Amino acid sequence: MKNLASLGVAAALTLANCAGTKPAPVASTAPAAPAPTESYPKGVGLDMADLDRTVNPCDDFFQFSGGNWLRNNPVPGYASSWGPRNLLGNRTQDLLRKILEDAAANRNAPPGSNLQKVGDFYAAAMDTAAIDRAGLAPLKPELDRVAAVRDAAALRAEIIHLQDLDFGVLFRIGVDVDEKNTSQYVVQMNQGGLTLPNREFYFKTDARTEKVKTAYRAYLQELFRLQGAAPAVAQLDAATVERIETRLAKASRTPVELRDPQANYNQMTVAAAQKRYPALDVKGLLAGLQLGKAQEIIIGQPAFFDEVNAVLKTESTPDLKTYLRWHLLRGAAAALPTPFAEASFRYNQALTGAKQQASRWKRMQAVTDQTLGEAFGQLYVDQAFSPEAKAKALEMVNNIKASMAEHIQTNTWMSAPTKAEALKKLNALRVKIGYPDVWKDYSTLKITRESYLKNVLAARQWESRREAAHLGQPIDRNEWGMTPPTINAYYNPPMNEIVFPAGYLQPPFFDPKADDAINYGAIGGVMGHEMTHGFDDQGRQYDSEGNLRDWWTPADAAEFTKRAAVVGRQYDAFSPLDSVHVNGQLTMGENLADFAGLTVVYGALQKQLQQRYGNGPRPKFDGFTPEQRYFLSWAQLRRQNIRPEALRQQIATDPHSPGQYRTIGPLMNMPQFQAAFGCKEGDKMIRPAAQRAVIW
Ligand SMILES: [Zn+2]
Repeated sequence: MKNLASLGVAAALTLANCAGTKPAPVASTAPAAPAPTESYPKGVGLDMADLDRTVNPCDDFFQFSGGNWLRNNPVPGYASSWGPRNLLGNRTQDLLRKILEDAAANRNAPPGSNLQKVGDFYAAAMDTAAIDRAGLAPLKPELDRVAAVRDAAALRAEIIHLQDLDFGVLFRIGVDVDEKNTSQYVVQMNQGGLTLPNREFYFKTDARTEKVKTAYRAYLQELFRLQGAAPAVAQLDAATVERIETRLAKASRTPVELRDPQANYNQMTVAAAQKRYPALDVKGLLAGLQLGKAQEIIIGQPAFFDEVNAVLKTESTPDLKTYLRWHLLRGAAAALPTPFAEASFRYNQALTGAKQQASRWKRMQAVTDQTLGEAFGQLYVDQAFSPEAKAKALEMVNNIKASMAEHIQTNTWMSAPTKAEALKKLNALRVKIGYPDVWKDYSTLKITRESYLKNVLAARQWESRREAAHLGQPIDRNEWGMTPPTINAYYNPPMNEIVFPAGYLQPPFFDPKADDAINYGAIGGVMGHEMTHGFDDQGRQYDSEGNLRDWWTPADAAEFTKRAAVVGRQYDAFSPLDSVHVNGQLTMGENLADFAGLTVVYGALQKQLQQRYGNGPRPKFDGFTPEQRYFLSWAQLRRQNIRPEALRQQIATDPHSPGQYRTIGPLMNMPQFQAAFGCKEGDKMIRPAAQRAVIW
C-alpha cells in the first residue's frame, strides 16, 4: 500500500518526490575517461557542444545552456519527455538488465533466496508466450469472487480483499507515521478510486480533456470486451464505471487542496468513523485488513468518505460489482495477455503523447524494481556505488547543511525564536545515502515461475500485510521509500529525512572525478532542494521531530507567506503553451525548494572553493568560471524536451514545474547568477529588483 509507485494521495501530502516527470530511457553514451587538464573531457562535467552560443545567457539561459542538446535529442517514440536523466536511465537499465537476465538464467539459486525470487519473477514476467497462452485463467479466481457477490455484506468483504491486494478501489488505506505524533504509526484513509489522473479530468470540457476522456471510455469498453462482454454490454458497463467514478471525483479534493497537510489530517475514533460511515463499516474494514487494533484513524478527506458511504448505500450491487471488476482488470492489465497491455498503452498515449510502447524488458524491469527492488537493488549497489562515493556525497550534504545553518542565522526577516526552531529542525535532519542500512526481508514472500500474475498478486498482498504489521510497533527508521537504482530523491516531512538513492548519485550529476562546481550545481542542487523542502510552504509546517505543529511566530509566518507569494506569481506567469500557465500554487513547494536549494548550495560551493584555492585564482574549465559552471550544471540537470500532451498533463497534475522553468525560475531571482554571467539590469534573465523574490 505504501510503496511510492502506488502512494497516490499520501505521496502528494507527505513525500516530496523530487525529480519531476519520470525518466523513460534509451541508448546511452558511456562516459569518457577523465583527464586532469584545464579542459574537461566529454562525460565529466559539461559537454560544451550542448551549448547554443548564438543565444545570450542573460536573455535565455535555458537555450544558452542546452539549446544544441535540445535540438539534437528529440523525445524518442516510446517516451513522453527526454532529458539527461533519461540518458542516465539508459545506462542504469542496461546494468539492471544484465543483473536480471543473469538471475533469470540461473536455475540453481537456493530456493527462497533473493536471487531465486528476482530471477523467477523476471523470467515469468518476460515469458509472454506463457502469459498469452494462459489468457485470463490466472485472474479467474479473482473475477469469480467478484461475480459471486450477492449482497452488501459480500460486497464489503470483496472491497476488503481488493484493498488487501492493493487495487485501490473507492479509496486508499494504509499504515503510515502519524503526522501529529511521529513516534507511532496510524491507519490513514485517503481519497482515491479514480482511473483518470485527478478530479479535474472528469469535469473539464476543453478539447484536450475531451480527447483524454474519449480514450478513457475506449479503454473501459475494450477491457470489458476482452473479458468477454458483447460490445453493447461493454458500453453499458463502461458508462456505469464512469458514473461511479464521477461521483467520487466530485467529492475529491483538487491537487492544490491536497497540499495543505492540516486540512488533510482529520483524526477520528474508529467508533466515530463507524457511525459516520455505516455503509463502509470501518470496523469491519480494519479487522479485515488486520488493522483491528486501531482505536483511531486519520481520515484525509472526510467529505469524500461521506460520498463513498453514499455510493455504497445508493448504487446497486450489480453496478458496484462492475466498478470493482473494472479496477481488477485495469490493475492486472500489465500482467495479462498482450491485448490488455496494448489497451492500457493506448489510454496512456492520450495522456502522454508517447508514440510507441517501451520494450517489454524495460517495463518488466520497472515492475521488478517496484516489487522486489531491495532484493535486486543490492546487486546493483555492489556494481554501481562505492563506499568512496558514499563518503563524498555525505561530505557534500554536510557542507550544504552548514551553509543552510548560516542562511538561517543571517536571515534578516526571521525572529530569534523561529530561527532557533529552524536550526533545531536542521540539526535533527536525518540523511540517507545510496541504499538502506538494513535491507527489506523478503523471506516470507513466495515467488515462482508458474505465473507472472500470481507473483504480482502475491507480492501486493505481502506488502499490504508487511505494512499492516507496523501498526503498534516502534517506528522503523531504516525503511526507504525508493529503491537503490532510482534516479530520484525525496524529503519525508514526518521523518524529517532526506534520501538519495545510489541511482541518482551517478555521472553526470555526481562524479567524484568532476570539479566541485559540477557536483554542487547538479546533485548538490538536488541535495539543497531536498533539504530546503523542510522549510518550504508545506515542509515548514512540520517541526524537528516531524510533527505537524506550528513553530513559527505569527509575524514570521506571515512574512514567509508574503515572500513565497512572490514566487507563486512568478510561476503563474510562465506559459509554455498557448493558454497553458504553470500553476504557482500547485508547484509552490517545488519552486521554493529549487530557489532555496540553489541559494544555499551556492554558499556551500563558495566555501569549498575557498578551502581549495584560498584567495588565489580559481581555474576556469572550458572557459567558464566555477560560478558559471555551477549554473550550467544545474541547467544541464533540468534540461528537457517534452511532448505537448505530456506537458499539459504535467501542468495539470505534477507539483513540479516544467524543466524549462525549473532551470531559469530560480536564477531570475539570484544576484549570484547575475554576477556570474555579468548580466545587466533589463536583461530578460534579470528581474527588476522590485519584482525579485528573496527568501533565504
Ligand atoms: Zn522536490
